[in-house]
Order: sequence, then structure tokens, then C-alpha cells
Amino acid sequence: MSETETTRTTTCVIAGGGPAGAMLGLMLARAGVDVTLLEKHADFLRDFRGDTIHPSTLQVLDELGLAEAFHRLPHHKAYTFTAMTDRGEVRLADLRKLPGKYRYIAFVPQWEFLNMITAEARKYPNFHLLMNAPVTDLVRRDGAIRGVRYRGEDGQEHEIRAELTVAADGRGSDVRRAAGLEPKEFGAPMDVVWFRLPREAGDPDDPFLRLSAGYIMVAINRTTYWQLAYVIPKGGFGKLRARGAGELRRTVKGLLPFLDGRVSGLRDFDEVGVLQVAVNRLSRWHLPGLLFIGDAAHAMSPIFGVGINLAVHDAVAAANIVGPALLRGEAPEELLARVRRRRWAPTMITQAVQRVVQRLVIGRALKGRRAPAPPDVSRLPVISGLARRFIGLGVLPEHVRLPLSKTGSQHVDR
Ligand SMILES: Cc1cc2nc3c(=O)[nH]c(=O)nc-3n(C[C@H](O)[C@H](O)[C@H](O)COP(=O)(O)OP(=O)(O)OC[C@H]3O[C@@H](n4cnc5c(N)ncnc54)[C@H](O)[C@@H]3O)c2cc1C
Repeated sequence: MSETETTRTTTCVIAGGGPAGAMLGLMLARAGVDVTLLEKHADFLRDFRGDTIHPSTLQVLDELGLAEAFHRLPHHKAYTFTAMTDRGEVRLADLRKLPGKYRYIAFVPQWEFLNMITAEARKYPNFHLLMNAPVTDLVRRDGAIRGVRYRGEDGQEHEIRAELTVAADGRGSDVRRAAGLEPKEFGAPMDVVWFRLPREAGDPDDPFLRLSAGYIMVAINRTTYWQLAYVIPKGGFGKLRARGAGELRRTVKGLLPFLDGRVSGLRDFDEVGVLQVAVNRLSRWHLPGLLFIGDAAHAMSPIFGVGINLAVHDAVAAANIVGPALLRGEAPEELLARVRRRRWAPTMITQAVQRVVQRLVIGRALKGRRAPAPPDVSRLPVISGLARRFIGLGVLPEHVRLPLSKTGSQHVDR
């Protein structure tokens, strides 16, 4: 990367160090592309975010030679998913019968995953990571996007010129706004309230879903504590807050009696996060010199916890398709269009299934007339096989095809 006082050049600049941007950065760096990743925060520490690494993404990590390093991170393997209803337990999915090496979902705090991916990328001298560097605008030249403007740690505006700019800056994408593109919104009947409570010996081990008339809660085992996701009707957070933490404590106790005695840890709403659920997607994922991937191209519903996996697989597809041209210093728009064509079906089909579940299960359950009664999939082999593949492998899983460069393999530990 060459540098002047405020302008640098690189081959590919990526806005956003989430799962999509970090994975694309790593794959391009190991292939030998000069790549610069800009992340607006000072670190990757982000709580109440996607924690689920599905078998298809574990396979990608394996193909990158990172499976061992990944499994050294603090993680919990979930092989089965169960719903606890008022009438007892129902098995929703069993991943143990999946084909392939990885037959579980690994729950890993997202910051651990991002630290690992970026630490690996930093071993390549052609990878440059700028933290605390929010992208503020695009650089336009001759009818194409040719880089970004960002605010540096010194508080000044800087410019990075690049052959390809990738927007991986999430569902509130600043780059999308700067490019004047707007996603089509599909709506969702719910928001999700997040909080944590301590775990104790004797608690259930695997994550589970708690269903009751008018109530849906997801419990994720994070070893020393439970991360709890309480699903509420869309826009209902203000009302919940007005009713006070006492009411939330009573709800949790009623739904999960084993947490009685620990709900006092939920003192006020300062310790509670809220996810405003959105399902949307851009119809156009590219402009000359600019590509959108991950949530910036399509925000997913949290149903099935597939947001990270779609983001990672977008990145793998983008690296496979555009990487060889970037090595020659080019990023023709026809290749950017190919990335969108490749990832359109997985995005559209996954969102379609999520919208059906939102409408038929979540929307109805939240109205609270009747306790939802999911079928026991172990008695429905065809449906359970489809559900297993859909959740575990997703639609059109990607594989690493962009080779490690001969010079890239001389990576340095720093
Ligand atoms: C509360 C919550 C729970 C979730 N639960 C799950 C789950 O269990 N499983 C799952 O798979 N998914 C889950 N998701 C969704 C998942 O987190 C996202 O789908 C996934 O992280 C998308 O990855 P991404 O890289 O496209 O975007 P993001 O993860 O949103 O990353 C975007 C990155 O860009 C940075 N950024 C933003 N603006 C700028 C800018 N102007 N300049 C530079 N950087 C910028 C952000 O700081 C961020 O690091 C959840 C999301 C939330 C909010």
C-alpha cells in the first residue's frame, strides 16, 4: 500500500469488520491481494450478536486450515434443538445425521470469532486493518466507485483509493446510504430483547426454545451464563420497559422456573439489549467498483440463527469469483454481478422460509391465543431431513476455491 499524507491506495477496500468483511479480508489476503479492512469500532467486542457457527461455516474454516484454532476458542457444541412447551419437550432438529465432518452448531461469542479471523489475516503483510475508522463517504471517479473516505483516529478525514470497494458494514450500512441504494423491506412481527442470567450446575446443557401461549424465549448456554432472547411483538419494547424490570423477572421465572432465585440479577433495563428485527434485501448488490455483501445486502431474521453464515458464505463467494481478477488489479462489474447471481437464491429462499415461520408460527404465537405446538420431527423423517440440511448446511453452501498465494504463504507472525 502506498501512502501520502491523507490518501492511500490498496486493491480492495472493505468497509466493516463483521463476519462478512473479516472473512473476505482473510481470503483475499491469503491469496495475495492487497486488502484494507476498515472497522468503525475500536475493538470487536459486541454482545448480544450472532453466536452461531453452523456446519457449513465450520467446513469453510476447515478448508482455510482454521478448524483447530477455531475449536480452541471457548465454544459450546449443540447437536440437537429442543422446544420446551407447556406440554413437554419436542425435538425440533437433530444435526447428528448430517453428512460431512461437522454435525453440530458451535456457539462462540462473535468477538472471539472475529478476533481469530482478523488475527489470522494480519499474518499476511498485504492485509491492513484500520480500527476506529468509520467510512463516511465513497470516492467517485469516471462513473465508478474508486474507494472510500473515512474518519481516522486523529479525527481527520482520509481517503483510500481502491479498484474494488466492498460494503460489509451491516444492516444500517453507511456505504449503502452514500451510494443512494435502499433495500426492500419485508417486515417482521417481532423484536427481540436480550439479557443474561447466571448458569448453574444441573441446568440444561444445549440451547433450547421455550414456547408458551403469548411467549417465546430462546436460551443459549454461554458456559457461565445464559444468554436469553425474549421475543416480543414488533415495537413492544417501550411498553415492556414501562411495565418495569419486576414484570420481566416474573415472566422469566414463569417460563423458566429453574431460574428462580437468579432473576434478581435482572435489576433494570440498563442490562437489556433490544434487536429491532428487520428482513430486507437490495435488488442491486453492485455498482461499478462497488459490491455489497452480508447484512448490508440483506438483513436476515434471527430465525434459525443464520445471519453470520450467510454473511460468511457471501464473502467466500465474492473471494472465489472476484479474487483472481483482483490479483491482476481488476474488478470488472460483470464479476460483481456474478456474486449477486450466485448468492441471490440462498438469500431469497432463506428469507422466504423465515417469513413463513414469522407469519405462521411467531406472529400467531405472540398473539397468545393458543400455546404453539410444534411437531416432533423425529416422527417425520422427510421433514426432519430437510430441516436438518436447511439449518446445518443452508442453501448452496460455498467452498474455498481461491488458492493460497505462493508469496502469501510466507506470512509473518505479528
Ligand atoms: C442481537 C442480535 C442477535 C443475532 N443473533 C444471531 C444468531 O444467533 N446467529 C446468527 O447467525 N446471526 C445472528 N444475528 C445476525 C448476525 O449478527 C448478522 O447477520 C451478521 O453479523 C452479519 O454480518 P455482517 O458482517 O454482514 O454485518 P455485521 O455483523 O453487522 O458487521 C458490520 C460491521 O461493520 C461495522 N461498521 C458499520 N458501519 C461502518 C462504517 N461506516 N465504517 C466502518 N465500519 C462500519 C460494524 O461496526 C460491524 O463491525 C444477530 C444479530 C443481532 C443484532
